[in-house]
Amino acid sequence: MEFDHVTLGQRVRFGTNRAADNLVAEVDRLGAKRVMVIASRHEAPIAEAVTAGIETGVWHDDVAPHVPIAKAEHARSVAAEHDVDLVVSVGGGSTTGLAKAVAMTTGLPIVAVPTTYAGSEATNVWGITESARKTTGVDDKVLPTTVIYDAALTLSLPVDLSIASGLNGMAHCVDSMWAPRTDPINQVLAAEGIRALAEGLAVIKADPRNLTGRENTLYGAYLSAVAFASAGSGLHHKICHVLGGAYDLPHAQTHAVVLPYVLAFNAQAAPESEKRIAAAFGAATAVEGLNTLRAALDAPRALKDCGMAEENIPEAADLILPVVPDSNPRTVDRESLEELLRAAHAGKDQW
Ligand code: NAD
Repeated sequence: MEFDHVTLGQRVRFGTNRAADNLVAEVDRLGAKRVMVIASRHEAPIAEAVTAGIETGVWHDDVAPHVPIAKAEHARSVAAEHDVDLVVSVGGGSTTGLAKAVAMTTGLPIVAVPTTYAGSEATNVWGITESARKTTGVDDKVLPTTVIYDAALTLSLPVDLSIASGLNGMAHCVDSMWAPRTDPINQVLAAEGIRALAEGLAVIKADPRNLTGRENTLYGAYLSAVAFASAGSGLHHKICHVLGGAYDLPHAQTHAVVLPYVLAFNAQAAPESEKRIAAAFGAATAVEGLNTLRAALDAPRALKDCGMAEENIPEAADLILPVVPDSNPRTVDRESLEELLRAAHAGKDQW
């Protein structure tokens, strides 16, 4: 066994109905005096409850999906104007992403309070969109100093969004098995993430107010992000990144749709990973485990339902082929990639 693994340094405080108290403790520990709270208008009621115990300097709600550069610059100028010494983000991946954009140029610490299962809070990956192109990069400055997880904050996330968001986490786990820097540590975190997400999502589907289901999903989402941050982007993430950017598809739903096709494509060429994923699902095969869960969840099925036009498939293949990771267990050529995209576009059962 030989590997080179980096563990990112970050404090995680996990506790249901504990976010407000945990935030008071963190602001105190960090000695922050001028806090900037970032939360979209939609997320503001959650943010108000979470920040009730701290003194807040400035509130910023100019949040948009995929962090447009103008929004990043606006948030940075607000932080500078108010001489902020801590950013507290309360919201989904878009809100966390804006906080990261501020940290990237200012070096300010972030306390992230996630309200979806996207997992951005546990990675050092940033993303910014300029002229309809999303650029991503890695910078340890954007890794939140602390993450405060509170499953009660995700109760208001509608079931369909919870499922898509949780399957986004599942995609981090599955792709971590064969991503460029995969190693035994990432794989064990990813396997436990798959188990926790599968268990949690099934409970959310049956009983959306069940806090144990929400806790398992949040815990799985965190593990998925830690594994992904360390292992890097595999084939699945490269495909979704291209599709999301080029055709403006919804992030979580695109991941939820594409995942079973990438898993089916790679599983036969990655027997060890296949066995691990199957065991995490408690299923005979990895594909069967994922498909059974997706059927139970009534998960998003087809790229055509996400707004992608079929005639874009050859162009999408042109964009994806040059970024396929060398580490992918199976060779990806134009024919196999187009076939995968056509199956995902139509939402085919058998593939
Ligand atoms: P999002 O943040 O855009 O949120 C989706 C919607 O849900 C928004 O309208 C939001 O206001 C609402 N919402 C959030 N929490 C809610 C709650 N508890 N109750 C009700 N509504 C709520 O979507 P997302 O899927 O969380 O994040 C997607 C973004 O995150 C993408 O831009 C993606 O690229 C990024 N991302 C980044 C990383 C990374 O490592 N950098 C990882 C995963 C995702």
